[in-house]
Amino acid sequence: MADTLNVSTYKDISYQLKKSDRKTTSIYIERDGTVLVIAPSPFDVEKIEQIIESKRSWIYKSLAEWEDLNRTRIHREYVNGESFLYFGRNYRLQLVKDQLEPLTFHYGQFKLLDSEVANAPDHFKNFYKTKLQQRLNERLKLYQPKMKLKPASIRVMELQNRWGSCTSKGAINLHWKCAMLPLSVLDYVIVHELAHLEDKNHSPKFWRTIEKVMPDYDEAKKWLKFNGAGMTL
Ligand SMILES: [Zn+2]
Repeated sequence: MADTLNVSTYKDISYQLKKSDRKTTSIYIERDGTVLVIAPSPFDVEKIEQIIESKRSWIYKSLAEWEDLNRTRIHREYVNGESFLYFGRNYRLQLVKDQLEPLTFHYGQFKLLDSEVANAPDHFKNFYKTKLQQRLNERLKLYQPKMKLKPASIRVMELQNRWGSCTSKGAINLHWKCAMLPLSVLDYVIVHELAHLEDKNHSPKFWRTIEKVMPDYDEAKKWLKFNGAGMTL
């Protein structure tokens, strides 16, 4: 991928232009909502603008979807009373002066040492990682026997922009953010990755595998689509 040259504007659409190694021009909407045009160089501005024009409605639709998905993004602060998600429910945070561990969760309340506020995101990540790992076996037991699919391992980690992944060696990885999801949605992520042990793609057969053990999986899928971006620290 070549360097970003600059931000250009065509009518009401601003876009970034990058050099392509290929002869074709493509348009993408990036994760931050930037419209990215990758075109062969030297750039033929007229041709690029023609392509943007021909894709105008697609660009608008994609940007609207992007806004929909990101409207739920929440910025949390580590102050008294702020709420944090834990398996689909919100719990309040209290800052305390004295406790043995930096972050604790008892009786439906998070407590954070006020001297540890600067490291709070790390403490929450560790909390979520540990708790999710502890719950996984119990959740797996609900579906694994019915699906007759067994992962080589199942681990919790930080994944880039996915809830889960399934490696070619049959290892399933889940994002620690899954500990913020309601259990029904977490189960969908697990079942989704289990189904990938059999089919690497999202073929109709893959979805049927999921549907057999989770007939209402579409609700969880939609939930993730519209609320997933809110699962942030
Ligand atoms: Zn998938």
